[in-house]
Amino acid sequence: MTNTSETWQAAYRLLEHTAGTEKLLSAWVQPLELESITESPEGKDTLVFHFLAQNEFAVFWIHDHFEDKIKAALEQVTGKKCELHFAPQKKRPDSQDGRSFSLDEPLTLSRSGQVPPNSGSKPSSDTDFKEKPPEYFSVFIPPASEKPQGQLVGIDERFFFENFIVGASNQFSHASALAVADNPGGQYNPLFIYSSPGLGKTHLLHAIGNHIFSKNPKMRVAYLSAENFINELIDSLQHQKMAKFRAKYRESFDVLLIDDIQFIAGKKSTEEEFFHTFNALHMSKRQIVVTSDRPPKEIEKLEERIRTRFEWGLVADISPPEIETRIAILKNKAERDDIYLPDEAATFLAAHIKDNVRELEGFLVRLQARASLTGTEISLEMARQELRSYSQEADNELTVESIQNVVAKHFGIKPIDLKSSVRQKNVALPRQIAMFLARKYMRMPYKDIGVYFGGKDHSTIMHACKKLETSSFSDPSLKGLIEQIQNQL
Ligand code: ADP
Ligand code: MG
Repeated sequence: MTNTSETWQAAYRLLEHTAGTEKLLSAWVQPLELESITESPEGKDTLVFHFLAQNEFAVFWIHDHFEDKIKAALEQVTGKKCELHFAPQKKRPDSQDGRSFSLDEPLTLSRSGQVPPNSGSKPSSDTDFKEKPPEYFSVFIPPASEKPQGQLVGIDERFFFENFIVGASNQFSHASALAVADNPGGQYNPLFIYSSPGLGKTHLLHAIGNHIFSKNPKMRVAYLSAENFINELIDSLQHQKMAKFRAKYRESFDVLLIDDIQFIAGKKSTEEEFFHTFNALHMSKRQIVVTSDRPPKEIEKLEERIRTRFEWGLVADISPPEIETRIAILKNKAERDDIYLPDEAATFLAAHIKDNVRELEGFLVRLQARASLTGTEISLEMARQELRSYSQEADNELTVESIQNVVAKHFGIKPIDLKSSVRQKNVALPRQIAMFLARKYMRMPYKDIGVYFGGKDHSTIMHACKKLETSSFSDPSLKGLIEQIQNQL
């Protein structure tokens, strides 16, 4: 066989004839350095080519655009099956390449199915991986001329600043979001927005994305939920695609908007990866905005170094809107969706639904459905009726108390008897059934169920549940009885 460099030269010449993209070839493939050729552990018929690319981004790019072509060319030249491995070159301290900050451990990318030494073994559970990403990372920002066109990833174009109603409760978050959207990567980085559910965090994230992109279509903006980040990370670890994952999140966006970041807390590998992503973006003055259901200090199990980073920038909260804001939100939605909503109905709804804008809007949709089904228009009276049945539905929710009421009624005893310690059979059995059903439907710990039964301890409740489970198995009449009560819940 010919030597290493001759093989590669021959393959490269072949590529020049076949790849048909001369410029790309010389920009990306020519700088590849063939470090060595080895025999595959699987057999002599397969050769493994170890290439060094300029940097991690190049590894990712070649993998996506040229790997198959290079492989085909090498197979033609050598007449054997070929596998390719790419790793980024260690940069020399005097390197002129791009604006790199620090060295990454080499990240190998393999299509052979083998686990490269440092790309992570399979996770032992969904979120607790053995993988330990390097402390340092490299950031490659393509020179301006090569910078790809802008991108808007995951952004919902229905949410913008213009349809976000501002009141005292959200004024600070709104102003912060607008400041960031006007000057991404500027003074407020990261921006951390928190509130209880349904108060407009997600709306503001999309609004930031839409605003930035409409002002500058060259910007690359991505919205994703923390859950998306976690799932993509798991997938990348399992399929040895970490180089791609890292290149994507650390290098290919100017603005990263992550929703519900509290979900990463306590998930070690995700936190580790997020930490490096955060650093890469922050260091190169790219904007990060995250939202959460609570302030950084209250996110339990969140790594301290991430918590402090969240506090580097601006932390803004949203509280439930005041009544005027609630009315304005309703009217605005009605107008946008072309729904007729008389003022008194809007005021009535806003007065009764206070803590959650999503619920408020949901109610309007419910009224609209009612109006169109009955061929009438929304009125105060309709709003009243609908709210009444809505709160009854809420009242009908299953609770330990409602289970106790049904059980007591069935046996003709008082609910309070279920909380006593009376051992008579006519009380003891209903009590055990109530405990069993509470456990089955409420999915609470035994200890907490005990509180509803006059403060009984964990073992009493557990004993009752286990006992009923086994005896209902062997006693069809008991089983029938329980089913009968269940149907009344
Ligand atoms: P969160 O992410 O805080 O749970 P969302 O952003 O999903 O809340 O908001 C829930 C719904 O309420 C969305 O449809 C959103 O457009 C709407 N909403 C919330 N706050 C406002 C507001 N101030 N003005 C207009 N719509 C709002
Ligand atoms: Mg949300």
